[in-house]
Amino acid sequence: MVRHVRCGSFFSGAGETASRDSTLCIDDAGLVTYAGPTATAPVAASTDTVLDYSGLFVMPGLQDVHTHLAYGNAKSEEDIDLYQPLEFRAIRGLFFAQKVVAAGYTSICAPGDAGQVSLSVRNAIAWGMFPGPRVTAAGRYLTTRQGLTDWYPTWIGVPDTSIGRLVTTKDEAIEEIRVQVKNGVDCIKLAMDGTQTRPDGELIAAFNQDETTTMVQEAHRLGRKVVVHAVGREATLYAARAGVDLIFHAYHLDDECLDAMLASGSAIGPTMTFQRNIIDFTQPHEPAGIKGRPSQVERLYEIACVNLQKARKAGVPMMTGTDTGFAVTPYGEWHALELELFVRDLGFTPGEALRCATSVTAGFMAGGDRLGVLEPGRFADFIAVDGSPLDNITLLQDKTRIRHVHIRGERMQIPDRDYDPRQVTDRSLANWTELYTQEHVAALRLRRPMGRAAA
Ligand SMILES: [Zn+2]
Repeated sequence: MVRHVRCGSFFSGAGETASRDSTLCIDDAGLVTYAGPTATAPVAASTDTVLDYSGLFVMPGLQDVHTHLAYGNAKSEEDIDLYQPLEFRAIRGLFFAQKVVAAGYTSICAPGDAGQVSLSVRNAIAWGMFPGPRVTAAGRYLTTRQGLTDWYPTWIGVPDTSIGRLVTTKDEAIEEIRVQVKNGVDCIKLAMDGTQTRPDGELIAAFNQDETTTMVQEAHRLGRKVVVHAVGREATLYAARAGVDLIFHAYHLDDECLDAMLASGSAIGPTMTFQRNIIDFTQPHEPAGIKGRPSQVERLYEIACVNLQKARKAGVPMMTGTDTGFAVTPYGEWHALELELFVRDLGFTPGEALRCATSVTAGFMAGGDRLGVLEPGRFADFIAVDGSPLDNITLLQDKTRIRHVHIRGERMQIPDRDYDPRQVTDRSLANWTELYTQEHVAALRLRRPMGRAAA
C-alpha cells in the first residue's frame, strides 16, 4: 500500500521555496518514493491511501538539536540533578518527548542528560513501544572544575544523578567516552566552559586544547559526533580547532574562531530561545530576577546577535535548538520561536530559517542523511501546517496550526494530557527569596498576628 499525500504547498527542505499542487508518495517502509508535481505523480491504486492536505503547507518535520529530556521543566539546577530518581526521569522524559512531537518536531537531540535517560527514551520510541520523536541521545556531559554542571562545592562533588560527569584527567575522559559509547549514545557532550571567568572577565575554557582534541579524536574514532557547550571565545576556539561537530552558543566568537570553524566544518546551534525567554519572562521576584540575570543575558544576547550574524554571512551552518527542559522553555512550547529569532535577530529569510530547522539541523542527527528533506529514499517525517511559514514564520509557534505530524508516514496521535508541575518537577527545598530583618519587615509593612504592626 502506498500513501499519497496531496499537498497545497510543498516545501521539500532542500531549497528555500515552496511549490504548489504537489504530491508525496510513501511506501510501506515509511520512505518517500515520490515528491513532486501532482501532474506527474504515480496514479493512486484503489488499495492506496490518499491524504488530502491540499489546503495545507507540507514540509519536513522540524528538528530541535537542543532539547534536554532529563530536565523536566526545571526551575533550578537542583531540580535537574537531585530530586527525582533516574527511572522516573526516563518516564517523564518520554511523556515530555510526546509534547515535543505534537508541536511538529519529529527529531530532537538530547545533548547531555543524566544516566541513560535519553537513550532509554530513544529506544522505547524507536522500538515501537510508544509514539514519539526520533531522539539523538547523549549521556552525561564531560566536565571539569571550570565547566558547566560541576555546580556544587568540591566537598559535595558531582552526584551520580547529575547531568555532568566530572573528569580530572585525559585518561578518565577517554574511559568515560568509551563507557558511554558502549552503552549506546549517539553523541558525546562536552562542557567546554561554564561560568568561571578570569579577572579580566573572559570565560575560561574548561578543557585545554590538548585535552579537547584528545576527547574529540576518541569520540570520532568510535564513530560518534561531538557537541559542546561553549559560550566564551576560548572554549569556542578550542572546540572548533578540535573539529567538534556542533557548538552550542558560540556567542563570543571572533575571526579566529570563525576561521577554525570554516576549516573544521563545525556547525553552530545558537540556542537563542533560552536566552530570549530568560530576558522576556523572568519576573523581578524570581531568584534569577533578584540576581539580575535578565539584564546580564540581554547584554550577552546583543553581543551574540552581532557575532552570529558574522558566522551566518561566513557560511557556518546554523542549527535550530532551544534548550528546552527549563521552566522558561517547557516541552512543546517554544521550539519554533528559534526560527522567528533566526529571522528577526540573525538576518535569515523565513525560507532559510525553515531550511536550517530541517535539512541543516538533520546534519547532526543520528541517521540524519535520511531525514530533513522530503525526497525519494528518505523517511517521510513531515508536518502539515495551516498557513505558510514562508509568509509568517511565527505561525509555527501556534499549536493549532500544526494540523498533522507524521513520522515514517504514520500520523502521530498524542493525547494532550495535562500534568501538575509541582508533582512531576518542583522539588526544590528553597522557601524564601527575601531576608526578613526587622528593617525589611517594617519597610514591607508586614503585619504580625493580633494585628500588631512590626516595629
Ligand atoms: Zn543545554
